[in-house]
Amino acid sequence: MLNFYPGPSKVYPEVREYLTMAYDEGMLSIPHRGERFVQMMRDLVGLLRTKLNIPQDYFIFFTSSATECWEIIAQSLTPTKSLHLYNGAFGEKWYQYAKRLRPDAYGQSFEVDDVLDVPNLPVEDDTDVICVTQTETSNGTQVNMNTLLKLQNQFKDPLLAVDATSSMAGLNLKFIRADIWFASVQKCFGLPAGMGVLVCSPRTIHRAKALNDRRHYNSLVFLHEKMLNYQTGHTPNVLNLYLMRRTLEHKPFIKNVDQSLVQRAQELYAFLEENPEMQLLVENPEVRAHTVIAVKGADRWVQEIKRNAAAQGITLGNGYGPWAKSTFRIANFPAIADAEYDVLRNFISAHYH
Ligand SMILES: *Cc1c(COP(=O)(O)O)cnc(C)c1O
Repeated sequence: MLNFYPGPSKVYPEVREYLTMAYDEGMLSIPHRGERFVQMMRDLVGLLRTKLNIPQDYFIFFTSSATECWEIIAQSLTPTKSLHLYNGAFGEKWYQYAKRLRPDAYGQSFEVDDVLDVPNLPVEDDTDVICVTQTETSNGTQVNMNTLLKLQNQFKDPLLAVDATSSMAGLNLKFIRADIWFASVQKCFGLPAGMGVLVCSPRTIHRAKALNDRRHYNSLVFLHEKMLNYQTGHTPNVLNLYLMRRTLEHKPFIKNVDQSLVQRAQELYAFLEENPEMQLLVENPEVRAHTVIAVKGADRWVQEIKRNAAAQGITLGNGYGPWAKSTFRIANFPAIADAEYDVLRNFISAHYH
C-alpha cells in the first residue's frame, strides 16, 4: 500500500528496525532524569542542529504536538495579542485557538494565490507575536523565506512565529529569519505521531523570562530551565525521541534533502500541469508548497480518483477544511521514495489523460 497522505504520513521504513532496537536496548523503560536519557537528549539536540541547520544559539524543545506549541506561544509569549496571517485551515485554527486564550488576538486572511503583502499589513502597536504558517497543509501553499525576511525587517518588535509542521526536516528552513519555529513529527520527520519540536531564538527566551509565565506545566520558562540539563518537565515520549535520534543519524544534511524534495515537487507539478484532467488548486507557482500538492476537481471526480487509486493500493490524501471534498492532496515528504511517485504517475497517466 502506497501512502501519500500528508500527515500522519508514511514513516521511514527503518522505523521498524529502530522500534526493536529501542526495546532491546532497554530504552523504553529508562528514567527521564537518568544519565542515559540525558545522553540521548544531548545527542539528539546536537543532531538536530547539524542535520537541520539550527543555529547554535537557538533553543530546541520537545512538546507533544504542533497544537501544543500554539498553546505555549499564546500562554508564555503573548501577554496582549498576536496577529495571525493565514490563508487556510491550519493557520485559521491557530488564530481561533489563540483568540480563545487571548481575546484580543486578531487575524488577517489572504487568498490562496496571493503572496503576503508585507508592506500593507495592519500590524497594531502592541502586537506581541506575528504568526505565519510556512506550509499550509490544507491547501498546499507556502510562505517563502524571502517573505519571512521582509516581515522580520518591517516589524522589529513582535516575535515572528512560524508553523513549519509540514516542512521542518524536509525544507532547508532559514531559522534566523524568525524567532519561533515548530512542527510535529508525523509529517516530514517520517516518524509516528505524538511529538512536536519547538525551536526558539535567544530573543524569544529573553521575552519568556521577562514575562515569567509559570502557570502551566508547559510554560516556556519551565521547558527552558529543564532543557538546560537536557531534561523535560514531564515524562516525555522517550520512544519517539529515540526514533528521531536514530533516523537523523542516517539522514543527509537538510540542504540535500531540500534539493531533492524541491526537484521532485517541480517534476510533480509539471507532470500534473501537463495532464488536461488535473487541475492544481494553487495557480500561482510562486506560492505553491514544495511538500504538499493539492489537486482540485468536481467533488464526484475527486471521490472517484481516490477510489480508483485505492483499488490500485495507492492512498491519496483527502482534502482538508474548506477543500475537503473538492481536492485531494499528495504529500511530498522525504520518507516517500522516488519509485513510489513513479507508481503514482503511472496510475494517473493510465487512467486520466
Ligand atoms: C498537521 C498540522 C498541525 C497539527 O499538528 P498536530 O500534531 O495535530 O498538533 C498544525 N499545523 C500544520 C500546518 C499542520 O500541517
